[in-house]
Amino acid sequence: MTRRVSIFGATGSIGANTLGIIREEPEAYRVVALTGGRNIKSLASAAIELNAEIAVTACDDLLESLRDALCGTGVEAAAGEQALIDAAARPADWTMSAIVGFAGLPPGLCALEQGATLALANKESMVAAGPLLIDTARRNGARIIPVDSEHSAIFQALNGEKMQAVERVIITASGGAFRDWPLEALSEATPEQAASHPNWPMGQRITIDSASMFNKALELIEAKEFFGFSSEQIEVLIHRESLVHALVGFRDGALMAHVGPPDMRHAIGYALHHPERSHLPVERLDLAKIGQLNFQSPEPGRYPALVLVREVMAAGGHAGAAFNGSKEAALDGFLEGRIRFTDMARVVEREIENISVDDRAKWTMTLESVREADRVARVRAQETMDALDG
Ligand code: NDP
Ligand code: MG
Repeated sequence: MTRRVSIFGATGSIGANTLGIIREEPEAYRVVALTGGRNIKSLASAAIELNAEIAVTACDDLLESLRDALCGTGVEAAAGEQALIDAAARPADWTMSAIVGFAGLPPGLCALEQGATLALANKESMVAAGPLLIDTARRNGARIIPVDSEHSAIFQALNGEKMQAVERVIITASGGAFRDWPLEALSEATPEQAASHPNWPMGQRITIDSASMFNKALELIEAKEFFGFSSEQIEVLIHRESLVHALVGFRDGALMAHVGPPDMRHAIGYALHHPERSHLPVERLDLAKIGQLNFQSPEPGRYPALVLVREVMAAGGHAGAAFNGSKEAALDGFLEGRIRFTDMARVVEREIENISVDDRAKWTMTLESVREADRVARVRAQETMDALDG
């Protein structure tokens, strides 16, 4: 039976890996929607090759180019935020959520409303609106399967286990581009330096977030929201080799570790084939050759994001949206050369101080309320950056 699949963020790093897995067995799938942003060439060529129903660019100004590229192929073209949501409303059995940033939330929610299985790479939506996503899935009989490698690892380690038996989870982190830099050099780090990851090839934004560990901070919230763990149950360990992705500790003292190469095709393929395990073209590890695995605790002074996130987890509610919104704005500021690498944490810290003085954490959560929390956080981040500029 062919499965209907849609891929949101098809032109990105996760999107390309997802397309690669689908290409291995194209007759097994019918591609409904493929979406992208500015990369019209790769969006159109994938849509034509896989005979998608529709290709959507997030950018209104690129609709004409997309139409031109798809002219005469029978693939529909559309553009803009609402078009992304409309594409998510088209019936599909499996939808990959791999847009980067908060923009992934509305189409992800819409896919869940259709009862689709949502393969969730877009961690920002779980961070900003975890309770809303989980509730929407529950109400519509939909499933969310994590694609973030650590969360896929936890998901797999929990298979067949009782949640009450879990004592703790350990999420590993490579330490990012600056793990060995002297601390005093971090304030001079450039976006190019931050965007070079020691182990994983990924999109630019998540790679910089790995250097600052904002990525790991987002993943702590993602684990809390997705699995329902408390902040105290979730630990972070630096693991330079990026081969152990996460460990689940049970009350009998056992630790179940997920070990595999740093290759996102594993987590994507697992989410695609779940509950089956199918052949995947990933490297098979030669442990004798690897010889040893190293673990160490992260230094709080190097990674302030890991300290800040604990306050966000304690506040709950819309604090996640505020955290993510200010982080995204601060990252834009760093990429534009407005603020330093080390200022990103200062911008987010200011937002967290605000979370404790207003009542955003307690608002009833809807898509609109989350959008508002995100908007307020971005405005405030601009103000903080203006102050830092000045
Ligand atoms: P990329 O930057 O490589 O790709 C992002 C995708 O989103 C592209 O298709 C891009 O289009 C599209 N896009 C960008 N902005 C918008 C927007 N405003 N609206 C709609 N679409 C947009 O990112 P990654 O593939 O690395 O990451 C995607 C998501 O997966 C992120 O949430 C990330 O945190 C998560 N993730 C990624 C991992 C990885 O290994 N890469 C690992 C774990 C999680 P275009 O390029 O055409 O402009
Ligand atoms: Mg991850």
